[in-house]
Amino acid sequence: MEEETERIYRLINNYLINTSENDIVINSLDVFYYFALNVKKLLSDCFDKKEFDISYSKITKMKLLDKVDLIKRFYQKNDMIFDLDHCIKNGTIEFRYYDFFNIKNSDANKRINLTKGIVLQKNGKTNVTINDNGLVTDIPLTIHELSHFKNSPDTERSLINWLFNESLAVAEELICLDFLKSLGYHDEAKLWLRLRYSSLLKSAKQAIPSYQMFILFKKFGAISDINYRLYFKTIDGYNYLKKRIKEGIIHPIHKLSFYVLATYLGTYMYYEYHKDRSFIKNIENLHKRINDSDFFTCLKLINLHNLEKEDIKKLMKALSKMCNRLKNDTH
Ligand SMILES: [Zn+2]
Repeated sequence: MEEETERIYRLINNYLINTSENDIVINSLDVFYYFALNVKKLLSDCFDKKEFDISYSKITKMKLLDKVDLIKRFYQKNDMIFDLDHCIKNGTIEFRYYDFFNIKNSDANKRINLTKGIVLQKNGKTNVTINDNGLVTDIPLTIHELSHFKNSPDTERSLINWLFNESLAVAEELICLDFLKSLGYHDEAKLWLRLRYSSLLKSAKQAIPSYQMFILFKKFGAISDINYRLYFKTIDGYNYLKKRIKEGIIHPIHKLSFYVLATYLGTYMYYEYHKDRSFIKNIENLHKRINDSDFFTCLKLINLHNLEKEDIKKLMKALSKMCNRLKNDTH
């Protein structure tokens, strides 16, 4: 056996040994694989290049006080209860000024700064630091990070908790983009939407070969072209998989799986809210109960059940709706 293959087998084996028996991802690899494949299928057409160019100079500039004012209006308008002033005054939330246009930075760094926010738990206290880039796009960034903050637990988040927490942040951020659009910031809303879903596509693409490795290893104990053909009914993709094995790349599938699923769930929640504003109660309830609820209770709180057929249909429908919007929305 080639050295690289052996290394990958060892990694997968260790991973499986150290994962609990009722682990959701490992026990539902096919479902997560299907989620990722669907993202690739739907979203690949939406982004012609791997990383799209951003015209940073076209993003509307906005001062911090005006942004804070709009964020408060957003919460009020959508019946979300959050005392932003209080959290700023007591230092829990800090906006870190970043001279976005004057500091010489590569585009990659600019992109990172555009979306940078940190929610940090230390000694039982949670602090939020959000980049103040002086841009309108800081608003959805802040809404996303504050959503993480709203339900901070006293202890470290479990992966399930992380999953629903991220899905809430995505949902609120998407609702906020509609608010931005209503104020005339169409291009900024569109840019943020593209950032969100191009990042989803990137994660799904990274996860796919890793799922394939896990699936084949679990099923056959070995990864080979014959096994690949047997299981996936095609040989397409095997060469790519082989390349990844040679490079020794296997991505952390839990993190990627939960990120992909969280974006599905967030998109679904956004459209449920779109359909009927009273869904905000479900969102608020999930915030309230996330820290003492298990996976299935969290699903129930947002009108889902078990991530089987009917639920999957709902999630797929939401993502495909979003995909149409990405393709057709000139604004
Ligand atoms: Zn997040």
